[in-house]
Amino acid sequence: MEDNKMNRRDAIRAMMLAGAGLAVGHSLSAAPLRAAGVLPQDWKFTEPEKGDQVVHRSWNKLGDSVSLLGMGCMRFPQKPGSRGWGGPLDQEAVNKMIDYALEHGINYFDTAPAYGDSERATGEALSRHNRKDYLLATKLSNFQNAELGACKDMFANSLKNLRTSYFDYFLLHSLDSVEDFRKRFVDNGLLPWLLEQKKKGVIRHLGFSFHGSNAALKTMLGMPYTWDFVQIQLNYVDWKEMPLEGSSEPCDSETLYKMLEAKGIPVVIMEPIRGGALANVPKGLQDKIHQRFPQLSPAGAALTFASSFPGVLCTLSGMSNMQQLMENVYTFSHFKPFTEQDNAYMLEMARLYNANPHVPCTACRYCMPCPRGVDIPGVFAVYNGLSDELMLPDPSYRKDPQYKEKRKEFLKRYAKLAKDTDASACVMCNACVPKCPQHIRIPRQMRSIHKLVKDLG
Ligand code: SF4
Ligand code: SF4
Repeated sequence: MEDNKMNRRDAIRAMMLAGAGLAVGHSLSAAPLRAAGVLPQDWKFTEPEKGDQVVHRSWNKLGDSVSLLGMGCMRFPQKPGSRGWGGPLDQEAVNKMIDYALEHGINYFDTAPAYGDSERATGEALSRHNRKDYLLATKLSNFQNAELGACKDMFANSLKNLRTSYFDYFLLHSLDSVEDFRKRFVDNGLLPWLLEQKKKGVIRHLGFSFHGSNAALKTMLGMPYTWDFVQIQLNYVDWKEMPLEGSSEPCDSETLYKMLEAKGIPVVIMEPIRGGALANVPKGLQDKIHQRFPQLSPAGAALTFASSFPGVLCTLSGMSNMQQLMENVYTFSHFKPFTEQDNAYMLEMARLYNANPHVPCTACRYCMPCPRGVDIPGVFAVYNGLSDELMLPDPSYRKDPQYKEKRKEFLKRYAKLAKDTDASACVMCNACVPKCPQHIRIPRQMRSIHKLVKDLG
């Protein structure tokens, strides 16, 4: 890569920030970006051709041919002027993205009542197409109220919002333990009712999305229920270890995936780019990924890693603009599964990423104020600033010749945060989590940063 060039996403972001006024639509092309010298000439990305189609996998047991790239509908563009996550969506932009996705073979659309305006906007956009041309996935997001009547109302509302008489894929949303499953779906009589809906054809395939430990999934899969598919978090950084908020139980994408694969349960992947963070890895890592996979951006490499496992039904990417969609269509219409050696290379990237972590905070302050007074963006700014400067100390690698210097600098800058506003003040109440448009697991990050400070002594 030429020294003075940016990666593709940075280039596009720079164009957008500069108000370059890219047209959103099928005519968007990478060529003007290259001509302007903004897109690296040696970055092999080419905009998808009109006939390019993303790869599909056929699942006889499900009776579907499913695009390996699924459209996560949680992060669609908002109406101009909207602040924070969850505001009204820009329907025209959503329509264009969904039209483009369908035109290029994406047929799996994943939404949920918990995604703000998403079900309504997705339903409006998709209803302009033939119902047989797409697969709809939504969820029962009964976190606040698991009373049977309220859950049935939520289900009916999803049908109405999505302008459909049936769901192709229906998920119990975000289970993290057997207790959670029992409380929200068994004790209230909801699961038998959902199974009735399946018999009637209102639900074609029933599954759940999962955010718990390895042990919890094992217990879930040992229960006398049949699941048509399961959705898990899988990416190269979480493959060997996925820290779980509020739990010390082991969790990793590899074990979760292999348990499902062994049972022949198709796997839907969420967070393949870890909420966007793996699209913006530090420069040194970008270069290493580019060296081995010159045709892939960091996001493309992350998506390819997640999608190469044969038990994967579909990999969801929560695309929030046409540029990301085009890049993903390119990746999946030229899809070449990673080899074992490629995977090993990506796991080395994960080791480097974890050695030099970065919280993708944009300092938008939508999460503020924290009820306990934590200066959330301030804490992340100290952490990220040092990480960017390769000055983040790693207490498990004290042999680093710069360790002492890094430790001193970190503690000096961290001490500048006002008293009682640093990560130690976080009580993990989760109030900030739904407010963050970057989907940062703020309490988990606070806990890690607090642990780092303690380990530095
Ligand atoms: S989880 Fe922590 S940082 Fe977030 S609102 Fe609660 S106390 Fe504040
Ligand atoms: S943590 Fe999220 S909401 Fe808070 S400032 Fe950072 S990006 Fe914005």
